[in-house]
Amino acid sequence: MNILFATAEAVPFCKTGGLGDVCGSLPRALAKLGHRPTIILPAFRQAFEAGLKIEPTGIDFEVTLGQKRVRGQYLRSELPDSNVPVYLVEQTGYYDREQLYHEDGEDYRDNCERFAFFCQAALQAIVLLELDTEVVHCHDWCAGLIPAYLKTVLQDQPPYDQIATLYTIHNLAYQGNFWHWDMALTRIDWKYFNWRQMEFYGNLSFMKTAIVFSDAINTVSPTYAREIMRPPLSCGLEGALQHRSEDLFGILNGADTDHWNPASDEFLGEHQYDVTNVEPGKAACKAALQAELGLPQRPEVPLLAAVGRLADQKGFDLVARVMQQWASERDVQWVILGTGEQKYHQVFSSIAQEHPGHVCVRLEFSNELAHRIEAGADMFLMPSQYEPCGLNQLYSLKYGTVPVVRSTGGLADTVVDTNSQTIAEQIATGFTFSEYTAQALAETLNRASEVFADKPVWRQLIDRGMKQDWSWEQSARKYIDLYEQTLTRARREAFTA
Ligand code: ADP
Repeated sequence: MNILFATAEAVPFCKTGGLGDVCGSLPRALAKLGHRPTIILPAFRQAFEAGLKIEPTGIDFEVTLGQKRVRGQYLRSELPDSNVPVYLVEQTGYYDREQLYHEDGEDYRDNCERFAFFCQAALQAIVLLELDTEVVHCHDWCAGLIPAYLKTVLQDQPPYDQIATLYTIHNLAYQGNFWHWDMALTRIDWKYFNWRQMEFYGNLSFMKTAIVFSDAINTVSPTYAREIMRPPLSCGLEGALQHRSEDLFGILNGADTDHWNPASDEFLGEHQYDVTNVEPGKAACKAALQAELGLPQRPEVPLLAAVGRLADQKGFDLVARVMQQWASERDVQWVILGTGEQKYHQVFSSIAQEHPGHVCVRLEFSNELAHRIEAGADMFLMPSQYEPCGLNQLYSLKYGTVPVVRSTGGLADTVVDTNSQTIAEQIATGFTFSEYTAQALAETLNRASEVFADKPVWRQLIDRGMKQDWSWEQSARKYIDLYEQTLTRARREAFTA
């Protein structure tokens, strides 16, 4: 099948979170199964800094945005270690910037224009670059206008009239909502600016538009697919989502085991390990990590880690509260790696200053360190308010680092709590809790610490997690089924229209 991925992020071209991981991995997995994915994404500055071979195609184009005509050109590259073509939409005024979406905590003011341009450029590429496309797989709000263009402006125009759209929601909270006058930029008729279609509380919403116009929709875990049907996780879109409930699916992300595998992880140097030598392997990684972070090299002390965007969503307020309480009372070590909201930078920096022997905080984005933390830590914390899928818990399972998670979204679908029943059934892999409170996290960490001291049971958790298969191949097969269903739905709709 020929699938065009329209996305703002794809590893290794650019990434701010899980979206980048998914769009770098899923196309590769689809290609391995004999399908023909192509990726199109904006040519952000990050992509040129990634050291990849990017060439001009010599093909340029023009997009009309309201009264303006804006020119751009297509560049060509390839997803490394694959034959998946990657096209980059170059428009330096829009994409050659410090960050992808915002700077200094403020969204770029022309985000609507930047991504309306991208959506139209992606659609024009189908014709100008002769991309044989059956399904456009649109990712998150940045690609949200594509399904609307196909169902309105391009409705009767070949080859667009034959193309189906699947829309994947990676995070419903980031919606791409803009001032209503931005509707004029899109060139889509104002008649669609109504509460059933593109309008959302007076604004133009890319997310809602995509939910309304796509042939099928999915999110990145079955539990999150259910959770977003109701407040609070529906973020106001429960009406639109319930209306599409028969077309809404949940497919868990995979983990990229080419890059996230302790047996071949280039960032672990000589300390690579697998399930057969996990004890000495992890011990060596833990000692190396403690040395790197300036923490005392004490093998017996539990090392607790959290890596991620320092945003409310990720539950870092709970982590900070438990850290503050425990740092002076309990003999555990903490490592936090992340960047994000200033309030978290401040609170974590000050805890680290007060407790240098127990707490290390790195306020940066470091893929290498993220790998070494996954390998060297004993427990990995993800007390998220909500988590569409979550990738770090999958990496943790693979690296024998026991996940401690709040039971929500993909975390609920991937981590099995440890209790007498799950130990007896041999299914326990981590620790989960429900209530979003620091007390619940602390109690769960207490339970985890007790089991940490019981080495045979702890080893069982590690072994079971490491042996699980979270590879992309499984998820890719589910996506292929869903692409088929998407085509069927599109044809049925065309037939009944
Ligand atoms: P989200 O997409 O909501 O940010 P995910 O768990 O799905 O969360 O994916 C986050 C990805 O980004 C993971 O691969 C994680 O390791 C990575 N990541 C996040 N923050 C950092 C950081 N500061 N340094 C390195 N990697 C990070």
